[in-house]
Amino acid sequence: MLIDNHNRKINYLRLAVTDRCNLRCNYCMPAEGINFAKKEQLLSTEELKNVAQILVGMGIDKIRLTGGEPFVRKDLMELMRHLSTLRGLNDISVTTNATLIGPHIDELKALGIKNVNVSLDAIEKTTFKKITRRDNYEMVMENLMRLVAEDFNVRINFIVLDGQNEQDILPMLETMKHHPVSVRFLEEMPFNGGSRSFASIKWDYKSILEYIGNQYPTYQKLEAPKTSTSINYKIEGHQGTFGIIPSFSRTFCGSCNRLRITAKGDVITCLYGRPKMNIRDLIRKDNSSETIKTAITEVLGKRAKTGFEAQKEHENSVFDNSMTSIGG
Ligand code: SAM
Ligand code: SF4
Repeated sequence: MLIDNHNRKINYLRLAVTDRCNLRCNYCMPAEGINFAKKEQLLSTEELKNVAQILVGMGIDKIRLTGGEPFVRKDLMELMRHLSTLRGLNDISVTTNATLIGPHIDELKALGIKNVNVSLDAIEKTTFKKITRRDNYEMVMENLMRLVAEDFNVRINFIVLDGQNEQDILPMLETMKHHPVSVRFLEEMPFNGGSRSFASIKWDYKSILEYIGNQYPTYQKLEAPKTSTSINYKIEGHQGTFGIIPSFSRTFCGSCNRLRITAKGDVITCLYGRPKMNIRDLIRKDNSSETIKTAITEVLGKRAKTGFEAQKEHENSVFDNSMTSIGG
């Protein structure tokens, strides 16, 4: 079992498989993209399998594949197949923009992969296009509805962006009320590849909840696992639920159970901190699982207690980085 220096159990790995993406969400990266990694800088299929296997052997029981857009990687399903054979790995999830998942839905189902988070920050086509700078709305909605119909456990991630999509919050809840999905509203974080910096946000978790509460005053708070980053609610008559993730306010650090590995192999023990080691370099130098295990244990033994503490590790700003490199 992996325990950090603040006695938090680490059982959840967010594994980014690429930093590339076919969308250009304006809260994530500039229109021209970022300086994407070259292929040889990315962990190869075999390296990804190896990393996953070692970490599952150390006590990771949940892996979320993320990116960039995971499905732009041609070998993603090969990795999924491998993950589905790992004993001790109880939960394989993926976070996706749902543009390219369509052809893989049947196989995902056959592999028993149930949890799919779809990032969708709009319910209106025009809002979608403005935010993503691309024209994939129909495909995303079609895939989203297929996932729901095929009984996947679907969660929609909707970042509330001041002046861009607040008018879509209530229509999103109305549209989804007939479906068993969880719509999670996230606070925006300034990880956008340097396109825009900000030190405070208008749409924090309190104002999002107040806004929704004005329309649905009888919402009920739900019990959530201790490690959940979202605070979840139920509206009467809605099949699914909604949640709010205070990603900017960071109220959840005390129970953080996550480890992140970027597509280039950087090991990040806190989203707001600096990378602590590079697992790709270590594997390419000395591919012994013992060396890797020792290095991982060491960095988890020096973990910052909160995101605010970790943020001080940066000389300039942590926010020059883009979420497409970190994986969210
Ligand atoms: N491409 C996939 C997707 O969009 O779902 C996976 C990668 S994306 C970087 C992972 C998550 O990070 C998404 O849910 C996205 O909404 C979130 N994200 C990206 N930029 C963000 C930001 N500036 N603030 C908060 N969340 C952000
Ligand atoms: Fe791509 Fe996801 Fe970033 Fe949007 S949030 S640009 S879909 S990586």
